[in-house]
Amino acid sequence: GGTIVVVGAGQAGFQAAASLREAGFDGSLTIVGDEPVAPYQRPPLSKAYLAGKATAGTLALRPASFYADHRIALRLGTRAAALDRAGRQVALASGERLAYDHLILATGARNRPLPVPGADLAGVLQLRTLADADSIQARLAGVETVVVVGAGFIGLEFAAVAAARAIAVTVVEAAGSVMSRAVSQATSAFFRQAHEAAGIRFVLGASAERIAGADGRVTAVETTDGRSLPADLVLVGIGVVPNADLAAEAGLAVADGILVDHTLLTSDPAVSAIGDCAVFPSPFAGRAPTRIESVQNAVDQARCVAARLTGRAAPYAALPWFWSDQGRLKLQIAGLARPHDRAVTRGDPATGAFSVFCYRHGHLVGVESVNRPADHMIARRLIAERLPLAPEQAADPAFDLRALVR
Ligand code: FAD
Repeated sequence: GGTIVVVGAGQAGFQAAASLREAGFDGSLTIVGDEPVAPYQRPPLSKAYLAGKATAGTLALRPASFYADHRIALRLGTRAAALDRAGRQVALASGERLAYDHLILATGARNRPLPVPGADLAGVLQLRTLADADSIQARLAGVETVVVVGAGFIGLEFAAVAAARAIAVTVVEAAGSVMSRAVSQATSAFFRQAHEAAGIRFVLGASAERIAGADGRVTAVETTDGRSLPADLVLVGIGVVPNADLAAEAGLAVADGILVDHTLLTSDPAVSAIGDCAVFPSPFAGRAPTRIESVQNAVDQARCVAARLTGRAAPYAALPWFWSDQGRLKLQIAGLARPHDRAVTRGDPATGAFSVFCYRHGHLVGVESVNRPADHMIARRLIAERLPLAPEQAADPAFDLRALVR
């Protein structure tokens, strides 16, 4: 029994509600979401959906009937504006107040705005929501030249989709390599070359300094190294900011996200936080608390909290894994490879299929696989179960990895 309110109708919020019902929670259950649509998958927004190979209907995590069938009330298109922790109530922007016995914050993250003049010109866009994807899609038809600011996952996925539509694409990135915060040098270099071979141009080690426009519309991106890159459309993908304001204003502990303990409880035992907004201690991340932006993390943290709230408390210890599709290249990552002090490659990158095994102090901490899904599945087990694999064995194509997990 009891009443659970979930704030945030994204991947994590949806999964928390679904898992609570699956685990037998039979009290009142409400999800509050500020987007106007029922929970959907974000990953296809920068991949199949933007490429025109998926429809909004196929993105929905469940059909509308699911929520009715499972007595999950959806309050969509409305923000949770304030928390009254002493009175255990959430105040919605609409003025309505929802009482709770337990509150789950699954507020996700929002795009980091580009802090330069001209960033508000028409045609300068970001991608987080279905509405963002629709407005990009609507403009893409007439576009000939695109500049992508930021060579992270979303920037590169978008660049690949645009290049496949014969649009001239230039990617501007402040770091000296692509996906530098997330992957090994070998994987980064491979992706840069593959994108260049597909016609994408890179300007590395420079940032956007100003966006130029005419009649309120973007015309070019001016960079710190003195270039003016023509653009009909600019896609800004420079990372996200966790949505922690609601928690902070209610006096919960925050630091680049909502701080939670190893069971995903905030500093208030009646409030949990999960997904992109949560900063948690991970057994795979070394000592410092971490925040992970991935479907795996959102789903597994939701399941962990649902289990705790239905009497099966356990520390959160799921192995992080991630994927990114960039054109015909499927990147899969098991574990958290940054930082690492040794990396060995299995398979030949020249064939377009290989894995990079990353070690920290002699332990395997992350494996990046490109078009090698079998390596990825084995790597998940090797890292999660801390099975020994010497770098020399990982690099030896004759060494049978499958035998280790049989
Ligand atoms: P979100 O999905 O962001 O959901 C949070 C929801 O809460 C949002 O709807 C937000 O508007 C709402 N909200 C916030 N504050 C309030 C409030 N006060 N009141 C009401 N509602 C509120 N991950 C992968 O693993 N693989 C991928 O390939 C991949 N690709 C991606 C591509 C794109 C374009 C994007 C944007 C993300 C991608 N991700 C990918 C990341 C993944 O989608 C996120 O990690 C995941 O959605 C996080 O789920 P979440 O529920 O924590 O946050």
